[in-house]
Amino acid sequence: MPELPEVEVTRLSFAARIRGARVTAVRVGKPLRWPLGCEPAELVSQTLGEVRRRAKYLWLELERGGLLIHLGMSGSLAFGRAPGQAGAHDHFDLVTTHGTLRLTDARRFGAVVWAASPDAGMARKLLTGLGLEPFDPTFTGDYLYTALRGRRASIKQALLAGNIVVGAGNIYACEALFEAGVDPRTRGERLGRMRAQRLATALRRTLASAIELGGATLRDFRDAEGVAGEFQLHCAVYGRQGQPCGRCGAPIRRIVQGQRSTYFCGRCQRP
Ligand SMILES: [Zn+2]
Repeated sequence: MPELPEVEVTRLSFAARIRGARVTAVRVGKPLRWPLGCEPAELVSQTLGEVRRRAKYLWLELERGGLLIHLGMSGSLAFGRAPGQAGAHDHFDLVTTHGTLRLTDARRFGAVVWAASPDAGMARKLLTGLGLEPFDPTFTGDYLYTALRGRRASIKQALLAGNIVVGAGNIYACEALFEAGVDPRTRGERLGRMRAQRLATALRRTLASAIELGGATLRDFRDAEGVAGEFQLHCAVYGRQGQPCGRCGAPIRRIVQGQRSTYFCGRCQRP
């Protein structure tokens, strides 16, 4: 599933190239998770502005409103001059004077939704309730500590919920908890200020490094230039069940929390 780093890598791969382009045609394929919300023809002849990201959503600014794009479970965006004939899983083409932005999504949990602004209509609905951006200066250890008061769920699940901070997908939550030395089963409310500080820093570092490495290589993810990420090769715990911990040598353990695999070191990560 594309996570925040993959979405950010995707954004970086085409934002500068699509800026200032004019939409010349729109091709809509099979229905996606949510309807487009406007007539495709209404997008034609509009000029594209900035491409922004909020959590795992991209916002493509148009002259009138914009398009909110989500990659769902298996979606990917490619931007290029010669996209070729649309295949069975290509469900949205935004043809512009600079190239074609194409959404490929085999499982069709992704979506492209028009809204008058990020604060209006369907965009507002989808973006409401999201936690802070991990790179927002207000995402501090104190903020995390305060937000975790009264949270009886495990810290891993509190991170994954996405309503405190966004971007802590399964792989990144596991890695950040390892780096911070926090046992993923620890109840959220039991995390002290110092450890909350360490965890906030660890999450930012983990995500920054994943973005730098081009996102994790997970199933279908490719960025808009077709490059697979290599973050997974650098994981300290994720997917390494039974292998020795790089810090202490104890075998990495795997447990299931909320139907998701958690990988951690029982010796380095304290409850
Ligand atoms: Zn260890």
